[in-house]
Amino acid sequence: MELKLTKALSRNACDFINDEYLEGLLKPSQPDRHRVTDIIAKSLAKEPLQVEETAALVMSEDPETVEKIYEAARELKRTVYGNRIVLFAPLYIGNYCINDCSYCAFKRSNPDAERRTLTPEDIEFQVRALEGKGHKRLILVFGEHPRYNAEFIAKTVRQVYGIKNGRGEIRRVNINAAPLDHAGYRIVKEAGIGTYQIFQETYHHATYAKHHPNDTMKGNYLWRLDGLSRAFESGADDMGIGALFGLYDWRYEVLGLVTHSLHLQKKYNVGPHTISFPRLRPASGVTVDSRYLVKDDDFKRLIAILRLSVPYTGMILTARENPEIRRTVMEFGVSQIDAGSRIELGGYTEVGDAQVMEKEQFSLGDTRSLDEVMRELMLMGFVPSFCTACYRLGRTGEQFMEFAIPGWIQEYCTPNALSTLMEYLVDYASPETRESGLCLVASEVEKISNAPIRATLETYLERIRTSDDRDLYF
Ligand code: SAM
Ligand code: SF4
Repeated sequence: MELKLTKALSRNACDFINDEYLEGLLKPSQPDRHRVTDIIAKSLAKEPLQVEETAALVMSEDPETVEKIYEAARELKRTVYGNRIVLFAPLYIGNYCINDCSYCAFKRSNPDAERRTLTPEDIEFQVRALEGKGHKRLILVFGEHPRYNAEFIAKTVRQVYGIKNGRGEIRRVNINAAPLDHAGYRIVKEAGIGTYQIFQETYHHATYAKHHPNDTMKGNYLWRLDGLSRAFESGADDMGIGALFGLYDWRYEVLGLVTHSLHLQKKYNVGPHTISFPRLRPASGVTVDSRYLVKDDDFKRLIAILRLSVPYTGMILTARENPEIRRTVMEFGVSQIDAGSRIELGGYTEVGDAQVMEKEQFSLGDTRSLDEVMRELMLMGFVPSFCTACYRLGRTGEQFMEFAIPGWIQEYCTPNALSTLMEYLVDYASPETRESGLCLVASEVEKISNAPIRATLETYLERIRTSDDRDLYF
């Protein structure tokens, strides 16, 4: 039985994913090399690509062209985002779920899942533990259940912002939860959320139907596809899209993500703030069909192609991936990663080092500590950042898109990255990490060509080093 929804969709909502058209773009043929060169040049000029242009990149198999795509992705990352990598941590709030997504350990039909919703006391413990490690940005994750309605999410967000641990505080709370209706988004927006993430999982209709039973909320493809349009119309203009890679052909999902991004851009003049591209992981009670699992080489390609297709959209790589893969793909355009993550309910204080499958949604590939990841990032030449300035100064949505002009990013984001990195080094880092971090900060400050900005930054860094002053940003 199909579940009927009575709630309103967004203005002129439509199902803008045309399977036949997208499949047609993926018909075997090698795109003309000159055309691909032109497409790469367009992307390097920071123009978003059309879906047909993305398809040409996706269909390019010859090693020379693939290498050109990698090189362009590296360059675009350098010119648009610089060498910053923003860090965050996930916090699972509750795993009750009314849906039955085939791939997820939280599905209602999994009898082995230990169900739990963190109490306010539990949340306090978890957040204090995360703050004690140096985290400033969290993403709260919820199953889909009536008990996790908009009011509950908003209450949780407010609580998280209010929890302090010495100099530690959470400055940005993002959400990954079920799609809401207009009124729901207004409620969570009021609580001061950052990005609202909804992954379509797969854009391919038949595959979507196969993995999300018809008689569940999530079985309604359009309600989910339209989820971020309703968010935008309700003022929650900071949106994150994503696909779960491994359910269907990765090439198709890339076209789906780009179509979704172009749709939001055309309808609201604002594209998504972030794109996520999780790969399917083993999970308790889940049998994974290996047919569409994405190989490491293809994963690398899809990240580089997404970078070229949506030059101004942040790209999130999670700890589902192992450290080796993370190291390899980071340079192709990733702008945010999580670190020190635990995804068991209560995992930051209650379980040991080993993962507990019955308590988590899927298993993680990277369980290193935040300090270890920070140190490695810096050794690789990245500047880890905990910056939250844009969202707090209201630079989101359309404003953010305007703001994301290359020179501006360098002038604001890099100094903010350095001041938040200095906070981490002074307050939380191990001696070894602190040592490499201080050298990195000094050399990065040298590179800032705008003299007034460099001078202000130097005073900020000195205040952080020598006093209790924190949260100094541009
Ligand atoms: N319940 C909400 C939903 O489904 O949108 C939000 C939270 S869900 C816990 C977050 C995301 O985890 C899902 O959108 C899905 O893409 C991802 N996920 C679920 N099972 C997974 C698995 N076995 N491996 C990797 N990612 C998975
Ligand atoms: Fe529930 Fe989300 Fe897991 Fe689906 S992916 S079973 S909606 S928690």
